[in-house]
Amino acid sequence: MLSSIHNRLSRDMGIDLGTANTLLCVRGRGIVLDEPSVVATRRGEEENEPLAVGNEAKSMIGRTPGNISAMRPMKDGVIAHFDTTQTMLKYFMNKATRRRPIIRPRVVVAVPSGVTDVEKRVVTDASLRAGARESYLIEEPMAAAIGAGLPIHEPTGSMVVDIGGGTMEVAVISLGGIVTHQSIRVAGDEMDESIADYVKRHYSLYIGARTAEEVKMEIGSAVPGDNEEAMEVRGRDLVSGLPKTIRLTPEEVREAISEPLSAIMGAIRGSLEQTPPELSSDIITHGIVLTGGGAMLRGLEELVTDETGIPTYLADEPSLCVVRGTDRVLEELDVLKGMLMT
Ligand code: ADP
Ligand code: MG
Repeated sequence: MLSSIHNRLSRDMGIDLGTANTLLCVRGRGIVLDEPSVVATRRGEEENEPLAVGNEAKSMIGRTPGNISAMRPMKDGVIAHFDTTQTMLKYFMNKATRRRPIIRPRVVVAVPSGVTDVEKRVVTDASLRAGARESYLIEEPMAAAIGAGLPIHEPTGSMVVDIGGGTMEVAVISLGGIVTHQSIRVAGDEMDESIADYVKRHYSLYIGARTAEEVKMEIGSAVPGDNEEAMEVRGRDLVSGLPKTIRLTPEEVREAISEPLSAIMGAIRGSLEQTPPELSSDIITHGIVLTGGGAMLRGLEELVTDETGIPTYLADEPSLCVVRGTDRVLEELDVLKGMLMT
């Protein structure tokens, strides 16, 4: 009773601070914000007010005149651009708060599991400066597993593979804790870069990161499918400098992304090798769950199933799992806060 009044007045927040997208939920209101983790600033004025953040800033990537830069502060880890990360977090938190809350919110932020202590401090400080009363951190794979509905508190092993833009994480969770985890800096972005490289090498065509991402989403796949259709791709001819259009097939895209895909498979295999035998047998029984936007690559579940021999499932709405996990944690924050990082 008291806590429900408290929740209504304080509007606690859960945040998925991703390398590609930031999602924010408010207790009792659900997901209120889902925008690219991008900040546009005037060059040399990075510390000042940003020009644009989120959706508006993403549309500027690759289109900015010399004096404006649009960047993804989380792309190379929090610390690489901590001022910009702080600016972005503060902007999103303010945007998600319609009215000034009567009681300042408690905030749970999901961060990649490999973050350093300094990076944790940056995120905590940023949320406190943006008006949080208390700030807690949770490892992204843990939040993903909770959001995907895995039985993390039970004495059974669950394996979650979260594939984002800049990082992919594999974790085995049992009894509410991470037993083994592995994080590599290969995920969706690397696939985009590989597609752009492939097009450059095979067609002397220069395409930007956004076009490459569109190709991946439209015709990208991890295994061959039925009725595969080619796609027209527009870019700039490297020789003539003029606009040119080519046709790219799904098979070519699979070849293009084969390296990042095998890095991802390597991380999954590595984690399985490090998993204690009792938990491995649980995973074989319950399967592997894929979360994160990058997991939506067509046929990825099939590839993971084929290569590991373990049934693999794509979570429901994979890109929402982490923020949903933070929402669930907020629900029981009083009980769970002792387990979270601060
Ligand atoms: P992060 O947690 O790092 O912010 P997300 O979980 O939001 O990342 O996932 C972003 C990645 O998901 C991007 O690389 C994006 O291209 C990729 N992605 C989104 N939708 C699809 C899709 N349908 N097919 C393949 N990749 C996708
Ligand atoms: Mg993520």
